Amino acid sequence: FLEIKNLKKSFGKNGSYVEVLKGITTTVEKGEMCVIQGASGSGKSTLLNCIGGLDTPDSGGVTVDGKEIVGLKPEALSDYRRDYLGFIFQFYNLVPNLTVKENVEVCGYLSPEPMAMAMLFEVLGLTEHQNKFPSQLSGGQQQRCAIARALVKNPKLLLCDEPTGALDSKTAKDILILMEKINQTFGTTMIIITHNNAIKDMVHRVITIKDGTISNTYQNEQRIPAADLEEL
Ligand code: ATP
Ligand code: MG
Repeated sequence: FLEIKNLKKSFGKNGSYVEVLKGITTTVEKGEMCVIQGASGSGKSTLLNCIGGLDTPDSGGVTVDGKEIVGLKPEALSDYRRDYLGFIFQFYNLVPNLTVKENVEVCGYLSPEPMAMAMLFEVLGLTEHQNKFPSQLSGGQQQRCAIARALVKNPKLLLCDEPTGALDSKTAKDILILMEKINQTFGTTMIIITHNNAIKDMVHRVITIKDGTISNTYQNEQRIPAADLEEL
């Protein structure tokens, strides 16, 4: 479903030139939950941003559902993001002066179906909070709002950069249980960047990045359900 071929990306020029991605090649199958792990500064977010069309690689390819996204024109790229992607970030990135409901509604130019939204709010425990502003919510509630925003259009690919990084372990677990349920219900392919060592046990595939290259990839033969993860 996702194929990355010899992806390279550097930042800066002259004196401060850093080669961040030094030729990443990997594949993620449709419906897989995949963790990307690696030390701070190893290039995880850069890779995710290249997959999401938020950053432009220097060379190499990224195909999603058979469609090459490297080198697309800006309009085609925003079509790709709209039609395929949901994003979840560590710090939620909600719009502060919009309510929960409004934050979810602005996800794209197509207005979400009211029924779908009501169901999503119910599942995420946001029904009673939908008219509140982000500042009136806890971190977990804000992250659930960000998840609602990412999911309301039923994305084919969900890109998550430290989705539970700012949450306590109980809330983190609730969010992971939810993501697992979404994966099982809709077959959503998910790429999850995390420093949390426990999360890799619940996913299908684990990719480790070291100094801009993939140092290891393995598939979990036996996944542990999110609800049974030990320490988060
Ligand atoms: P972390 O776990 O801390 O989030 P990461 O693996 O996500 O780290 P990246 O954010 O991908 O790491 O950054 C990798 C390297 O690229 C770092 O050395 C960083 O300083 C550099 N870098 C990232 N973005 C830029 C940019 N826009 N301009 C210059 N350098 C950048
Ligand atoms: Mg990062």
